[in-house]
Amino acid sequence: MPSLNEIRSTFLSYFERNGHEVVDSSPLVPRNDPTLMFTNSGMVQFKNLFTGVETRDYKRATTSQKCVRAGGKHNDLDNVGYTARHHTFFEMLGNFSFGDYFKDQAIPFAWELLTRDFDIPKDRLLVTVYHTDDEAADVWKKVAGLPDERIIRIPTSDNFWQMGDTGPCGPCTEIFYDHGDHIWGGPPGSKDEDGDRFIEIWNLVFMQFEKFEDGTQRDLEAQSIDTGMGLERIGALLQGKHDNYDTDLMRALIEASANVTSTEPDGPGNVHHRVIADHLRSTSFLLADGVMPSNDGRGYVLRRIMRRAMRHAHLLGATDPVMHRLVPALVTQMGAAYPELRRAQALIEETLKLEETRFKQTLDRGLRLLDEELDRLPEGAALPGEAAFKLYDTYGFPLDLTQDALRETGRGVDVAGFDAAMAEQKAKARASWSGSGEAKEARVWFDVAERVAATEFLGYDTEVAEGQV
Ligand code: ATP
Ligand code: MG
Ligand code: MG
Ligand code: MG
Repeated sequence: MPSLNEIRSTFLSYFERNGHEVVDSSPLVPRNDPTLMFTNSGMVQFKNLFTGVETRDYKRATTSQKCVRAGGKHNDLDNVGYTARHHTFFEMLGNFSFGDYFKDQAIPFAWELLTRDFDIPKDRLLVTVYHTDDEAADVWKKVAGLPDERIIRIPTSDNFWQMGDTGPCGPCTEIFYDHGDHIWGGPPGSKDEDGDRFIEIWNLVFMQFEKFEDGTQRDLEAQSIDTGMGLERIGALLQGKHDNYDTDLMRALIEASANVTSTEPDGPGNVHHRVIADHLRSTSFLLADGVMPSNDGRGYVLRRIMRRAMRHAHLLGATDPVMHRLVPALVTQMGAAYPELRRAQALIEETLKLEETRFKQTLDRGLRLLDEELDRLPEGAALPGEAAFKLYDTYGFPLDLTQDALRETGRGVDVAGFDAAMAEQKAKARASWSGSGEAKEARVWFDVAERVAATEFLGYDTEVAEGQV
């Protein structure tokens, strides 16, 4: 059974053999792209090559790209621990053609790698194409011999990718693996498609058109290819597992989490271990790429992920900080492929330890307050906004942490009320500032500004360029 490390190598060497330059993953903080919170797909580092703004001495590339989807348009944070296939941090394997080969070669590459090198049974695979993309459907039929009912035509934006409102765009094709009828779910496009039986493993984007301000489009001169396959998803199926979290690498982290909390990996705490394993990866890689916990922007997303993990560790009964003790297991698993992890190991451990030590001072009391509030509420009622705000303001509970904590009770938070309480505090801070130049007042203002800035990350929702659709 191949390990995730072996699968990553097989992928890269397959495309290297086929004339692709093996390019390093770019950092999680995109260079020169303030509109994008984190690198969320393989194409991000190649954007300027697709638009023709930049050229390099290769026209084909292959990467294993570090991705984080925990903010902005692509936000999988709430899925983590609960679906079989989502992480906040994952590796996206990709092959790219910059005005070189197109559909008629990209599809055969993917098919050959999956069914020959990875030896996946053909009858487990099915694909979607954009409903008007006869070309792609024809290539699939010819190359893979798939029957019509396993080439599913989808009319939605799931199968049409665009870089932004203008610029390169085009249809895409998604490859799905059928994990078998013992798992609930229907094929893509059906009413049960949200189930976990048919799992998307690979997305091939055909950059075919260029879109203009007035809504018109024309054929791109240089048509390009951008693909992305989740390493953890292909890994799960090649290891005979249904769930990403049962792959060798994730399993090692889950066991480490069980170890440091003296609990069972598969007992009732399993969901906590899954969340911890996932969040350990995203926080460690973000720290390695220079993001530090803070109260706004990227740093606040990092802090939110950390604190979520810390609550789950707390639920497992951890009394002392534990996150930093998991870092060696992560370095063992991933340090060879990503040396930056090794270089930053001490920093990662120190930062996690400090953050968890600090958060522990209020976590306990905050959770008790939350329990008291819940006792007072009628069944099913949402947590009032002021309570959520108090947890945020006094106990350092990010809103999404409170929502995560309420998840098992089936309750939500009155988010409008939370926003109103936040706005009220902002207004008060402004009022006390005006007309006063006292140093003391200024200190209050800076405190408040720090807290208020905590919501600024919402501004990244406007990100214009994303990776795969
Ligand atoms: P899904 O529909 O399952 O959420 P997606 O269509 O959003 O996936 P893409 O944007 O097409 O995903 O990304 C390319 C590939 O990256 C996917 O086919 C999948 O294998 C992988 N992938 C995407 N999101 C995640 C995630 N949160 N965790 C792990 N792998 C992912
Ligand atoms: Mg998605
Ligand atoms: Mg999809
Ligand atoms: Mg997709």
